[in-house]
Amino acid sequence: MKVYKFGGASVKDAEGVRNISQLLINECAEPLVIVISAMGKTTNMLEKVVNDYYSNNSPNLDKVKLYHYSILEELFDKSHSIFDDVNNLFVEIEWAIEDTPTSTYAYEYDQIVSVGELLSTKIVSAFLDQEGFANKWIDARDIIRTDNTYRNARVDWQLTKYNIAKYISDSEVFLTQGFIGCTTENFTTTLGREGSDFTAAILGFALDAEEVTIWKDVDGMLNADPRYFDDAKLLNQLSFAEAIELAYFGAKVIHPKTIQPLKEKNISLRIKSFLNPKEEGTVIFDNAEMEPFLPSFIIKENQILISISANDLSFIVEDHLSYIFSLLAKYGLGINMMQNSAVSFSVCVDNDSQKILDLISELKEGFKVQYNDQLTLCTIRHYDQSAIDKVVDEKNILLEQKSRQTIQFVFSN
Ligand code: ADP
Ligand code: ASP
Ligand code: MG
Repeated sequence: MKVYKFGGASVKDAEGVRNISQLLINECAEPLVIVISAMGKTTNMLEKVVNDYYSNNSPNLDKVKLYHYSILEELFDKSHSIFDDVNNLFVEIEWAIEDTPTSTYAYEYDQIVSVGELLSTKIVSAFLDQEGFANKWIDARDIIRTDNTYRNARVDWQLTKYNIAKYISDSEVFLTQGFIGCTTENFTTTLGREGSDFTAAILGFALDAEEVTIWKDVDGMLNADPRYFDDAKLLNQLSFAEAIELAYFGAKVIHPKTIQPLKEKNISLRIKSFLNPKEEGTVIFDNAEMEPFLPSFIIKENQILISISANDLSFIVEDHLSYIFSLLAKYGLGINMMQNSAVSFSVCVDNDSQKILDLISELKEGFKVQYNDQLTLCTIRHYDQSAIDKVVDEKNILLEQKSRQTIQFVFSN
């Protein structure tokens, strides 16, 4: 059994859907489970719908509808039943946003945003059928069982494994949604942005897959994001341990949660290009020697550096730190970098505006708080002097930290 995951970029338009259909027909890997994300930037568009809905700002689905219908019109005859399926999914959201919200933002978010994956998988499944590539559409909410931490749901592995064994056999090709799951009370949940990679890993784990392949618009895992570094090089192979570090520091190509389940069962993870499927891509497996061995660069934008000191300039002591950490945890803010001195504690986090406003106002009740925003965090793994020079180059560095393997800089743009 293999698991293939196709992300938003692979199905961003009709040509993308045709391309993956051809790819599947050529590869003919069977048995197979295919995991698909929402098309293109659908999740961002649906987030806007939720935000408007939640702030009573006339939520409007027109853009999402237009986008999907234009893809449908290119792929199917007008009489195809897929038009009804897609229409029904839109009607569900329209009903949901007719009334004022009754529950938390996170709950409403999951009920609405999850429709992106339902739409894309319905469309791709119908197109594959039309092209003669038989496949069975599965609702991920029947298999991925989670708790009710909406927007960042935690998987109930035992129930999920049980469901996967019940619904998925090794005699067919199955196609399902990434990113979404369901509570035992039948409420839809999501696993966190970019969570479709994680769904592929969950399936790979439960099915003891021979390999999980993540198809991307790049040749594989590179030593830098090609959007920032035009000389980024392909890494042919690396270990799970190295991949987890790169993903943790923010290499956007794989979701950090993807690695652990695969490592536990020693299932290799391949990252390949859906544009060049004949190339080998990157393979990640236990204890792999990194090849080629190169410094890796990870850029995270939209960072905020917050410096916290006691109002009376007294020392920052342990109980202050534990209180600050508890607030970061309360607002779900992961620490990207931190440093402390006698009188202050500095922490660099993603500038998620709503969470940051709440955090800072709560911190100000007990501390003096200063911050700089619009910053960039650069992490270099396996750095050397020339790698550092390449990044630092006349930048205004606000914070720097170094260990044997990794150096990090926070700088203003
Ligand atoms: P998906 O279509 O699965 O959602 P993403 O857009 O999330 O794909 O991820 C692919 C993108 O990740 C690439 O286009 C590339 O710009 C970016 N990226 C960031 N870091 C790396 C890296 N180290 N190697 C390859 N791609 C990277
Ligand atoms: N569609 C979701 C997102 O954009 C999940 C994913 O793409 O992995 O975050
Ligand atoms: Mg993505």
